[in-house]
Parts: sequence; C-alpha cells; structure tokens
Amino acid sequence: MKKKILIIIGVILLSFLIFLLFFFLNNKNEEDINYEKEFINQGYSADETTLILDKVPKNEYNNFLSFGYDKSLIDILSSKDYKEDKFNNYIEYYLKNKKSNIADIITIVNSGYDLMNYPASSLLANLVKEKYYINDYVARYLDYGNSNNQDSKKIIAMVNSKADLGFYSNSYDSNLDENNLVIVNKFYHLKEDYTPTDLVTLSGQYNKGVNNKMRKEAAEAFMKMVDAASLENITLYNMSAFRSYDYQDNLYSRYIKRDGKEAADKYSARPGYSEHQSGLCSDLNEISDSFEGTDEAIWLKNNAYKYGFILRFPKGKEDITGYKYEPWHYRYVGVEAAKIIYEDDITLEEYYAYYIENET
Ligand SMILES: [Zn+2]
Repeated sequence: MKKKILIIIGVILLSFLIFLLFFFLNNKNEEDINYEKEFINQGYSADETTLILDKVPKNEYNNFLSFGYDKSLIDILSSKDYKEDKFNNYIEYYLKNKKSNIADIITIVNSGYDLMNYPASSLLANLVKEKYYINDYVARYLDYGNSNNQDSKKIIAMVNSKADLGFYSNSYDSNLDENNLVIVNKFYHLKEDYTPTDLVTLSGQYNKGVNNKMRKEAAEAFMKMVDAASLENITLYNMSAFRSYDYQDNLYSRYIKRDGKEAADKYSARPGYSEHQSGLCSDLNEISDSFEGTDEAIWLKNNAYKYGFILRFPKGKEDITGYKYEPWHYRYVGVEAAKIIYEDDITLEEYYAYYIENET
C-alpha cells in the first residue's frame, strides 16, 4: 500500500516537472518568435533577423528595436571583428558617428581605449592599430595627423618623440637614473656640471681621437664590438666619445660663427643637449658623409646592436631625432633595447617614449 502511494506521488511530481520544463521552453520560443516578427515588421529580411537574434544580446532586443530599421546596424553585426560584449559600445559610438565607416568604428571600439569622445575616422582607426600608439597622446596624434599628410607610423613617431612640438620648444632634465637609457636630445638636457663618474679611457687600437673616454660598461661593449669586427677584417676605432659641457659650448659657438645658428642647430648640439656629454656614445672612424657606404659603416649598421649600440641619427629620421644622418655616431643603450630599436627600425626617441615614459 505504502509503495503504491509513493509511486503515485513520484509520478505526479515527475509530470509536474515535465510540465514546468515544457512551459518554460515553450515560453522562450514564443519570445523569440515574437521578436522575430517584430524585426521582420521593421523591415529586416529573414537572414538579417537571424543575424540579429544570433548576435545581439537578448536583453538588448528591445533597445535594438527602438533604433528602427538601419542597414548599418546589420553591417556592425556582420563584421568579422564584432564582439557581442562590446555591443553597447558599438551602438553608442555609431550613433555619434553615423556617417563614419563601420569598419573604423569597430576597430576603434575594439582597441579597448576609451575614445568615445573623439570623432570616428580612418586616421584614428589606423593610429590605434600602431604598435607604438600611446593613448595619452591621442589628441596630439589627431592634430598632427590632420595638418600633416603622413602615415600613421610617422605621426606616432613625431608625437611620441615630441618633435611635433618643435625642437628646443620644451626643456626637461635628462633622468640620470635611467642609466644606459638616459635620453639627451633637443628636449632633454644634461646639467652644466654633469660628468659621468665611471669614465674609462679607450686606447691602443680602440682609439684615434682626443676625446677618448667612455662610461665603463659602454667602453667594454665598444671594445668587444671592435674585436668582433676585426675578426671580419673590419677596422673600427673611436674618434670622439665623451665631451664635456664646456667643450660642446666652444664647438657650438664656433659653428654658429661659421654657419649661423639655424644651420649649426642641424648638425651640432647646443651645450647640455649633446649626447656626447653622457659618455655613452662614440663617433667612429670618419666623421664625414663619405663614411656612408664604406664596409665599416655597413658592418656597424648591421651588427652594432648585437653589442648594445644603435645608429643614433639614421637616414630618413631627421625630423624625429632633429639631426641629419650621421653614419658614424653610435650610442650605447644595452643589448636588450638595441635589439628592439634595430628590429623595429625606430629611434631612441620612439623607444624612450613608449618603453620608459609610457611605463610609469
Ligand atoms: Zn657624435
């Protein structure tokens, strides 16, 4: 008797559960079907409606309906880069930029930066795709990009290096704590009384110049590089390494007298702004344009980075570094940074902006 009652109760409970399950499933289907009808009533085709039901988050169906028929919304949903969790961002950005290219809108939203207040444009979409893009500089990128017809890589380089502001327009103290990566250029300068405390002398086959001192680590790397080159019958030597503030002061004054300030600024640093005061660089072999194309210059260009040195003022980067091409001037930055600078074909300015300033 008891057994019978238990079985009856069990059957009743089970039927009830099955009923509940069907009720919910059916209800849900009905909901979808209702929305399907609504989207179709709004003008979307059967395929577009399927896409909407598939790609739009369910709790946004009503919101989606409120926009009315809009083919661009379908373009957003059918983009291969569409991400459902960014649905609201796409919509918000699209509504502010109805005339913009949908692919650009998707790229800008997907970048993960909060750029909702900037107008969507191909320029902005190209900028956020660049490796060395720094979000803090976006307004300057756009300013510079809109007034200079250059590709996005160049725009990023010009702004990151501060070159868009104009050389010598701002002046900051070089941060000596950065050691081998300290930057000295037309924005960052060393103090008048700065002399590195670990200068060592390059002598013998390593030197043929009067300014023959370099900071210890740089000098050791320099000698290693010269030794490696000589195994390939390439003879390298220092002509000018560390130069004091006063030395540079005299040099620069002489150049101004000879060629005028504007011309002098193109090839000579103002005192305090010369990298030679850092004790981390060397002018090798021949301080002259005719050094370009020699076996020694070519060897340096292809191999110096392995020893932590970079070609500091490359050809084609004059408006980033502020100096004309100097095939003889090499700067020690350590092997790790030199490899990135060499492989990514960037300047120390670009490396510094992205890996050092941007890190903090
Ligand atoms: Zn030099």
